[in-house]
Amino acid sequence: MNKQTDWIGYDKNYVWHPYSSMNSEVPVFPVASASGVKIKLQDGSELIDGMSSWWCALHGYNHPVLNKAVTDQLHSMSHIMFGGLTHQPAAQLASTLVEITPQPLQTVFFSDSGSVAVEVAMKMAIQYWGALGQTKKQRFVSLRSGYHGDTFAAMSVCDPVTGMHSLFSETLTQQFFVDSPRCLFNEPCSDNDIAALRKILEDSHQQIAAVILEPIVQGAGGMHFYSADYLIKARQLCDEFNVLLIADEIATGFGRTGKLFACEFANISADILCVGKSLTGGYMTLAATLTTENISRTISENPPGVFMHGPTFMANPLACAVANASIKLLQDSDWQQKVKTIESLLASGLAQCVDFPQVEDVRVLGAIGVVELKHPVDMKTIQPAFVEQGVWVRPFGKLVYLMPPLIMSEVDLKTLTDAVVKVVSDLPG
Ligand SMILES: *Cc1c(COP(=O)(O)O)cnc(C)c1O
Repeated sequence: MNKQTDWIGYDKNYVWHPYSSMNSEVPVFPVASASGVKIKLQDGSELIDGMSSWWCALHGYNHPVLNKAVTDQLHSMSHIMFGGLTHQPAAQLASTLVEITPQPLQTVFFSDSGSVAVEVAMKMAIQYWGALGQTKKQRFVSLRSGYHGDTFAAMSVCDPVTGMHSLFSETLTQQFFVDSPRCLFNEPCSDNDIAALRKILEDSHQQIAAVILEPIVQGAGGMHFYSADYLIKARQLCDEFNVLLIADEIATGFGRTGKLFACEFANISADILCVGKSLTGGYMTLAATLTTENISRTISENPPGVFMHGPTFMANPLACAVANASIKLLQDSDWQQKVKTIESLLASGLAQCVDFPQVEDVRVLGAIGVVELKHPVDMKTIQPAFVEQGVWVRPFGKLVYLMPPLIMSEVDLKTLTDAVVKVVSDLPG
């Protein structure tokens, strides 16, 4: 066997893919390269990318500006430990993040993935209350249908059903859950809609460090779009009951929803904010947890006087350099207009799905389009069906969804939505 050319067999034998079985009959497609909005498979065929590699590849693949940022940085330093040392790309990125996120977030902690950014956020909240002598405040409230990552603490605040909490019940921390907001995007939200959250906070605030939620768009836990009013009311309840608010903008950050950050729909700020995914334009793994000066100072000025976390690859210079370039690229582009255009093309392109007997709901927000089916898909058949249409779409459960790179042309977007219409209409009813 030649390891350069015959590697596909090795993948099948040795590599475990995300959320998959080693015995799976769901195909895994070998990729040769990716450029712009196209993924080129080993067999030479090209797929239009409808996933942005899980919310990440904002500017598409193989972008000259991002390539240059990485190679330039590579020539000076690919990595250096962050304990006791620092570097320009990290400092620049921190200052940019402080500038562009809702006030008054001011201290930035870098980490290497979204899940870790969530762990860090949860530890910050616990350490903050501990520093104030409130050592009982160590639990969290989250929304059902939420998704916050796969490590243990992050998993404990994911939806208990889709997160399969039952599998890990003996070791997973029990958190508090409220139902996913019933008031949908652009709808008002009554006191009744927020009553469950109020009740938990009323009863248990002495044990609760923070409410954690994905603002406006619940991503991998269900692709729900909910009311900005709910977010405003949740913020007020957190203040009323002395509980912090953690906004997980790992999926929503950097323009995907039409706002730079989804918190802006409600004009609120969180006490702690997590970003990741498209932070580097999909080039490298990097995440950040931002908090207020009050929280970072309180942790720093009280025993043990330090924040207890520090990943080996914290603030990797290559990742920070490409993040700086990606944010600049976004800011220099007319991204609001692009998202608006994508939004209207997704809405018109997917509209006819509503009438299919297989379909429960169609919804679009910003550059996110969702077709919710009545039954879960069979990945074994639907995945090749999309590839046959020349597109890359990766459904989960009952959800077929699109979040294309923001650079996608109208023609490619039309191919993408036509493919969804075709594949969904061919599903058994
Ligand atoms: C993807 C995601 C995470 C986890 O990020 P990883 O980089 O996969 O660890 C956390 N929260 C949200 C909202 C996400 O979409």
